[in-house]
Amino acid sequence: MTGPGTAAAFRSGFAALVGRPNVGKSTLLNALVGEKLSIVTPRPQTTRHRILGIVNLPAAQIAFVDTPGLHREARRALNRAMNRTATSALEAADVAVLVIEALRWEAGDDLALERIARARRPAILAVNKIDRARPRERLLPFLASLAPRHEFLAVVPVSALKEDNVDDLRRTIAGHLPESPPLFPDGEVTDRGLPFRIAEMIREKLTLELNQEVPYGIAVEVEQLKEEEGQLAVDAAIWVDRDGQKPIVIGARGERLKRVGRAARLALNGLLGRRVHLNLWVKVRANWADNARALKQLGLE
Ligand code: GDP
Ligand code: MG
Repeated sequence: MTGPGTAAAFRSGFAALVGRPNVGKSTLLNALVGEKLSIVTPRPQTTRHRILGIVNLPAAQIAFVDTPGLHREARRALNRAMNRTATSALEAADVAVLVIEALRWEAGDDLALERIARARRPAILAVNKIDRARPRERLLPFLASLAPRHEFLAVVPVSALKEDNVDDLRRTIAGHLPESPPLFPDGEVTDRGLPFRIAEMIREKLTLELNQEVPYGIAVEVEQLKEEEGQLAVDAAIWVDRDGQKPIVIGARGERLKRVGRAARLALNGLLGRRVHLNLWVKVRANWADNARALKQLGLE
């Protein structure tokens, strides 16, 4: 892409989005890539896996990596696995993008910054949610107050939700990647296949529907995909932690599961650009979130 005589060399590398839970890392990944790759809910700890999203610019290719939120409380095997996932993505990154919320600096932000320093990654600070920073006059002093916390390569205010200043962040990150030819073939957007993306979409709708009722005890596994009369037929299992959670997920007369199925089906129709038929089953695997083998089977290591 860079012809002879062009001054700027091509840059390419990994940029890991890290931070405490719920600051908007996944929303930001989707905005940076321009496609919904990572699921988003108002609940912390929605992201469990490393999610890759590739962006091609005229003189750079950025491989963004969304990560589970870093947290100190990690009693369950699932939470420890999530912390490990975030830490190893950080260690493999060329640049760390620390995501925080505008007008707030919390202990969790210090923890994330500690991890970045420990991994010795150069860091860009993305100050997210500027759309809801009130009063507005406090934003500039807040941004100024961040400089002494760390030697950030840059501090970039953004709104992932409103897609405000995301372009600036993308360019800033690209400018700090190493000179290198592209790492991924043109046209590749993620490394995750269809079953994973479908399972995640179902988990998003389920999490939104359940609110606080089944805390963190849910996993979704696509068991079968097949073509059926011009539709994509999906069989998926919803794994719960305990017997008692099954009726909660199903709801009275199955209403809740139906609502989840409908929301997921509509979202998948949009995502895949085709009609999807969903069969959802609720299954119990006792204490899967504390069970290393179950985590492995569900792709959560
Ligand atoms: P993560 O846990 O860091 O991945 O955060 P998510 O991307 O899942 O977002 C957590 C919550 O913050 C969701 O309700 C998002 O809609 C919300 N959110 C994310 N970015 C923004 C933003 O720029 N502005 C506002 N107002 N909300 C946002
Ligand atoms: Mg997330």
